[in-house]
Amino acid sequence: MTDIEQSVPAKINLLGLPQAKLETFFEKMGEKRFRAAQVLKWIHQMGVISFDEMTNISKPLREKLKEVAVIEAPEVIQQWDSKDGTRKFLIRVSGENAVETVFIPDDERGTLCVSSQVGCSLDCSFCATGKQGFNRDLTAAEIIGQVWQAAKSFNQFEEGAPRRITNVVMMGMGEPLLNFDNVVDSMNLMMHDMAYGLSKRRVTLSTSGVVPALDKLGEHTDACLAISLHAPNNALRNELVPINKKYPIEVLLASAKNYIDNLPDNRRKMTIEYTLIDHVNDRVEHAQELAVLLKDIPVKINLIPFNPFNLSNYKRVSNNALRRFQQVLIDAGYITTVRTTRGDDIDAACGQLAGQVQDRTSRSRRYKIDQQQLESSADLIPVKLVAVSE
Ligand code: SAH
Ligand code: SF4
Repeated sequence: MTDIEQSVPAKINLLGLPQAKLETFFEKMGEKRFRAAQVLKWIHQMGVISFDEMTNISKPLREKLKEVAVIEAPEVIQQWDSKDGTRKFLIRVSGENAVETVFIPDDERGTLCVSSQVGCSLDCSFCATGKQGFNRDLTAAEIIGQVWQAAKSFNQFEEGAPRRITNVVMMGMGEPLLNFDNVVDSMNLMMHDMAYGLSKRRVTLSTSGVVPALDKLGEHTDACLAISLHAPNNALRNELVPINKKYPIEVLLASAKNYIDNLPDNRRKMTIEYTLIDHVNDRVEHAQELAVLLKDIPVKINLIPFNPFNLSNYKRVSNNALRRFQQVLIDAGYITTVRTTRGDDIDAACGQLAGQVQDRTSRSRRYKIDQQQLESSADLIPVKLVAVSE
């Protein structure tokens, strides 16, 4: 890079700024705060990212904006449509990387599964994303950009579009609570009246249990919460979800309950996600233990049959074991659903979002969490990363 290039300040990307940050941006430019509302609506309600098309903004201001800012959505490299209506996007984020985003239609509902990081450092034993390691956090623009691109692909920005995104789940690649600020900013945009206007009951953050971040989540959002539990006791969960060694089940559930209890509408339940793996965590005894563990917590349980992938020896739960497991929980009084696998023909299922990124991110730039940090008393944030070995 030359000295001249280095001295040119990068233009700010307005795509990922929630209202408060956009207002500060305009104030710093010496402009009125209400410009933020105008720009938000152009970008997220009308799908317009060219300043020239923003007709309620004067030409001189548009020129001034072009000098200091851009509105750039990450590019869709490829799109696959499943015969069941599921649509998967491979989205380029800066550098060599790409992440995956999945749209799952279901009657009136359209759920978008959004990624928060390139890879994941937490190394859960049954997850393809975890197996590839972590490369970097996504920016808020790259996170909300997935929503923007999906909305655009369904012509959602036009009047009377047949398909809409009605729900967002932060269940794509990455651990959202390890990219806290950018995830909070983008969820804020998903739920903001002048952006996508989704109800707080239709935006869900899923976490494997980064407790210090979960403890402060309620100060920043009132979205729904899903906890990736996958085991009814610490011995088993330590094997499946390594972060459990740092924040064991009782600590995690206490933090999650605290989040739910402090929501303004106190009738909401959190979701417990439980990926069922053949002969690992699918026994009747596990279901019984789970029923006891959760008895004082407002939960609904979502069972996810394990989705196999290349680097894993685990097998999908059998249908019999799945039915037995579900029945124990139903009999104990829990609302218990089974997540049906969608987008089978395009590898769009939970935990399978990885393949393309793996090919694109060289091993030398992939990291995972340092095991010693998990087992020591040191704080987890910031996460200490070690290179993924060959
Ligand atoms: N990092 C977050 C969100 C992304 S994972 C978390 O762990 O919650 C989204 C969900 O998919 C989690 O519940 C995760 O446990 C589940 N999952 C991961 N790999 C899977 C697989 N191979 N089969 C089924 N579910 C899987
Ligand atoms: Fe990361 Fe979630 Fe996969 Fe665990 S399940 S490795 S936390 S993405």
